[in-house]
Amino acid sequence: MREEEYHSSILIVDDDEALLQALPQVVYLRMPRVQVTTVSSAVQALEALQTDKFDTIVSDVKMPGMDGLELLGRIQELNPEVPVLLITGHGDHNLAIQAIRSGAYDYILKPIDRDSFTVALQRALQTHQMRQTIVQQQLALELHAQSLEQIVEKRTGELKAANETKEKFLRIVSHELKAPLENLKGMAQLLQHQLQQGESSTMVMQGLQDMERSIIRTEILTQDLLDTSLIETNLFVLHRQRCDLVELCGTLLHQYTAGSLHAHLSELLGEQVEVEVDAGRIGQVLLNLLSNARKYSAPHTPITVTLEKVGYEATLSIRDEGIGIAADELPHIFEQFYRVPNVEVQNGARAGIGLGLYISRKIIERHGGHLEVQSAPGQGSTFRIVLPLFVDTERPQNESASPLKAAWTLAYYEH
Ligand code: ADP
Repeated sequence: MREEEYHSSILIVDDDEALLQALPQVVYLRMPRVQVTTVSSAVQALEALQTDKFDTIVSDVKMPGMDGLELLGRIQELNPEVPVLLITGHGDHNLAIQAIRSGAYDYILKPIDRDSFTVALQRALQTHQMRQTIVQQQLALELHAQSLEQIVEKRTGELKAANETKEKFLRIVSHELKAPLENLKGMAQLLQHQLQQGESSTMVMQGLQDMERSIIRTEILTQDLLDTSLIETNLFVLHRQRCDLVELCGTLLHQYTAGSLHAHLSELLGEQVEVEVDAGRIGQVLLNLLSNARKYSAPHTPITVTLEKVGYEATLSIRDEGIGIAADELPHIFEQFYRVPNVEVQNGARAGIGLGLYISRKIIERHGGHLEVQSAPGQGSTFRIVLPLFVDTERPQNESASPLKAAWTLAYYEH
């Protein structure tokens, strides 16, 4: 029989040569799937146990040198789960009792009755099999418990982080809302006073402008908070429509630069860049990036907006020549509420609360695109919005893949 056809394997230890030949014969004839190894001393048995695994060990009690009981003790130290059957002499009941008390699985009386020997051996093998199954199940349970523990630990960590974010959120929100509201209250009281005193309309007008700024700031803040909450709860809905990105950017830049800035379309190659986007949301991202470009650049430095069509993607880059961002800060700037520490806002603008880039990235990702940044301190920053082009299945492919480049430079009017 080939090795792999055996179900189990036993070791028989006996100094009695006759038994050492007879017992394997019994096993071979009645339990053909049991492999038998024989040794004639306890020392040899211990050696065999170093290299091989057995499902049951049958040993004579009385042997020269180390006897069966001592061998039993050693086996219990080495392989406690392996049942040991001890063979005792006829009428040697005390020894048999001692064997059981010392942990033997069963005892077999000499002269050995083949049937009882086979039954005892079968029971021992079954017991071993069951013990093995229990050990395996225990192991599986332990592994399962470990993985559950890990899941609980991970989940607890996530909940803790979510709670911390929520607390930070509330702290920042209440702090940020307080300033413009207090300003509004103060201005309203001042205006009332000025009107009662019959002050000039110029002063009243100035007060009203201040109030408007505070209201706008509160409005932006509220909008950012609402957007964040919609993103977090997965309720952020896009109203996508097919449109030309060249036209959309032109209109947005024209609106943005009304005042002291002007947008000059310095280069235009090609025609349209068709995309299917939520124009309002894309406008929000572009305006946010432009406002950052101004906030973090010295006054009057130019900002360049470039639109390129490469393959099946449109890339809209907003480049400034401002303070730039250090490499170790770059991975964080898209996180909620993250602001690069110790950065002064230029151009008299007020610092935001660190939600702008977080929301912008989410909006672009919802469009199936991505928002990237390239920046170095003192060398300015380039933010790139990459969007998938609208694929018109009715038009030939090479037409939608035709190249396009449009560039606008945002410069300041000389006063
Ligand atoms: P904030 O509202 O504070 O501007 P954002 O999420 O828009 O928040 O930006 C996060 C941080 O990234 C800013 O606090 C700023 O430090 C940095 N940052 C963003 N845009 C630029 C830029 N164009 N140049 C330099 N730093 C920038």
